[in-house]
Amino acid sequence: MIDFKQYEVWFVTGSQHLYGPRTLEQVADHSREIAAFLNISTHIPVKVIFKPVLTTPEAIRELCLEANSTRDCVGLITWMHTFSPAKMWIAGLSLLKKPFLHLHTQYNREIPWSEIDMNFMNLNQAAHGDREFGFIGSRMRLNRKVVVGHWQDDGVQADIGIWVRAACAWADSQGGKVARFGDNMRDVAVTEGDKVEAQIRLGYDVYGYGVGDLVKSVNQATEVEVDQMVQAYLDEYDVSPGLMPTGGKHPALREGARIEVGMRNFLAAGNFMAFTTTFEDLHGLAQLPGLAVQRLMRDGYGFGAEGDWKTAALVRAMKVMSAGLPGGVSFMEDYTYHFSASGDKVLGAHMLEICESIAANKPKLEILPLSIGGKADPLRLIFEANTGPAVGASLVDMGQRFRLIVNKVDVVPIDEPLPKLPVARALWLPRPNLKTAAAAWIYAGGAHHTSFSYSVSAEHLQDFANMAGIEFLLIDENTQLEDFREKLRWNEMYYHLAKGL
Ligand code: MN
Repeated sequence: MIDFKQYEVWFVTGSQHLYGPRTLEQVADHSREIAAFLNISTHIPVKVIFKPVLTTPEAIRELCLEANSTRDCVGLITWMHTFSPAKMWIAGLSLLKKPFLHLHTQYNREIPWSEIDMNFMNLNQAAHGDREFGFIGSRMRLNRKVVVGHWQDDGVQADIGIWVRAACAWADSQGGKVARFGDNMRDVAVTEGDKVEAQIRLGYDVYGYGVGDLVKSVNQATEVEVDQMVQAYLDEYDVSPGLMPTGGKHPALREGARIEVGMRNFLAAGNFMAFTTTFEDLHGLAQLPGLAVQRLMRDGYGFGAEGDWKTAALVRAMKVMSAGLPGGVSFMEDYTYHFSASGDKVLGAHMLEICESIAANKPKLEILPLSIGGKADPLRLIFEANTGPAVGASLVDMGQRFRLIVNKVDVVPIDEPLPKLPVARALWLPRPNLKTAAAAWIYAGGAHHTSFSYSVSAEHLQDFANMAGIEFLLIDENTQLEDFREKLRWNEMYYHLAKGL
């Protein structure tokens, strides 16, 4: 359900008429070559479209308006091959609604020492042309990403690719729809928030439904649809004997399949990108949806439990950022600690809803009692998560602003088997260590729910936060607690004053 083929970024070069037509032709040729190179770069998952070199305020304004109204254009890559007087850019940039990346590069990699003359100098002058363009971006207080280096360098392409993925998630978020089945869990604070402000700031709309609307869709599932879903379960998972067609609990498997069919049909019909459930509101559903949620996340839907719409939308954004990359993205919760000599660890899990995209092994499909909710035993996939570096991200509403908090972690193998733990799980060491990371997270007000990923990096999330103009806080191997607390205090001041900047 996530397809980058629809998206494109525009490669936009600025110049002026001072240099004469021959130089401008060369500028255009070089830009075309760079755009074509980036278009086939494996780091950049969308089309890179060359746009004619801009040399007048009118042309710049027209291009920015065209970008705003082109749905599939997720952003601009701008580059000043020569000098492009930046007052020409004010009208266009003040109208531009799409994210932009300022690529500070030069067509020629190295100085041709024995041949360099003033013609070369006048053509290859991004070193100062881009500074003029940079000034106007800063003078206008515009959010943008600056990437520096030769355009053929792998690192430059990688940085552009990260930004492009964030821009795709940003485009997906604009007008995106989140469905909530039931309200937030009663009395919980961090899963609440200002949905109007979220829509203004992040672009997505949150729609509430009574669980009865979902039940209606579940009841409308046909026997053929349920049969097909049951067959998919049998094909894809290590199904416990009781749930097999010959087993005594097979009717519960069919009931779980019916719930998944109903949820899928509901979400597809409403063109939703993410959804929430809550165990406090399940009237008419036989089980808390576990398996269905795990599989819907695998297919690209965002999800938040207990009505957590902010995390649902964040999981979806990270699903988009990571599309096509190895790894995975899941809803997650910091559940239990392991304080030990081998390093203090976090066991992450949830009641049921961990996405199988992060599974290290073929999931086991089980039916087991749930100690809360008071419903029939729910189906769930049980597995160990992949090991390796990952991030946990949390979006919280601080009242005056949204704050995105990211912790880099290292997922490690479990110390010993967990034969009695009936849920999917991941065990990790937070960076720099639990003592600092958890204190920083708590001082920052980070939630117990996160969006957890092996394929999305802190850089993807930072680019996304910049596009949204929201606060971004990173907890990683370099975090020092007192510096971090000082940053929290400064940010309180900055975001208060920034409204007047
Ligand atoms: Mn929870």
